[in-house]
Amino acid sequence: MRTPIIAGNWKMYKTVAEGRELVAGLLAGLGQVADREVVVCPPYTALYAIGEQVAGTPITLGAQEVFSESQGAFTGAVAPQMLRDVGCTYVIVGHSERRQIFGDTDATVNRKLRAALDFSLRPIMCVGESKPQRDSGQAEAIVTGQVRAGLVDVTATQLLNVVLAYEPIWAIGTGDTATAADAQAMHAAIRATLAELYGDAVAQTVRIQYGGSVKPDNVDELMSQTDIDGALVGGASLKADSFLRIIHFQ
Ligand code: PEP
Repeated sequence: MRTPIIAGNWKMYKTVAEGRELVAGLLAGLGQVADREVVVCPPYTALYAIGEQVAGTPITLGAQEVFSESQGAFTGAVAPQMLRDVGCTYVIVGHSERRQIFGDTDATVNRKLRAALDFSLRPIMCVGESKPQRDSGQAEAIVTGQVRAGLVDVTATQLLNVVLAYEPIWAIGTGDTATAADAQAMHAAIRATLAELYGDAVAQTVRIQYGGSVKPDNVDELMSQTDIDGALVGGASLKADSFLRIIHFQ
């Protein structure tokens, strides 16, 4: 039985005060969420404050990015144990915006993922194809290739702490969601790849989130799919009412 995981990626939005207000709204409306995990991923500047606010609540803290080294002369970078230090449990790696804008490759994503695991952070590794790749029939090969490359030298025991997020690039921030059937097909292909790499029993335990314009009006159908175990939510996680509705999917 995989516990669904709903994570909000705030991207480059929210000051400390705005983040606190959002989390206060979430905590006010959250109620009982024992059967699902809820994560918020604020920008670095708000992590400490939000970490203090969510301590002892059902909300868990995540970061949006991490560097692969543990310390050193890496101006502007943040190390895994620094994220642990401010209360993070999760960290997103390989988001398509990091791959497209900041030059992350499968190899750097793999290094970041392994560094996160080495310091007891749980990575949420994003994979996803572009529109031209989907239109030319390469989506599954691209996505499963990203899964294999991202998990190089990751053991089965470590994999239990990894969450995968299938995020078709063309669906992120566009309002253009994958159909539930297309998303399910890709999630099944990802799980089959995990089964090839680690065996079926391990593959069945790994949570695979869907991300890409998840909204209150499409979350229930997406979450009803066999291999969709959660959502990674951008825009709709920035307002308490929409994120609460997503958290409370049926
Ligand atoms: C994301 O940032 O990972 C994302 C899925 O964004 P949105 O929900 O806005 O499409």
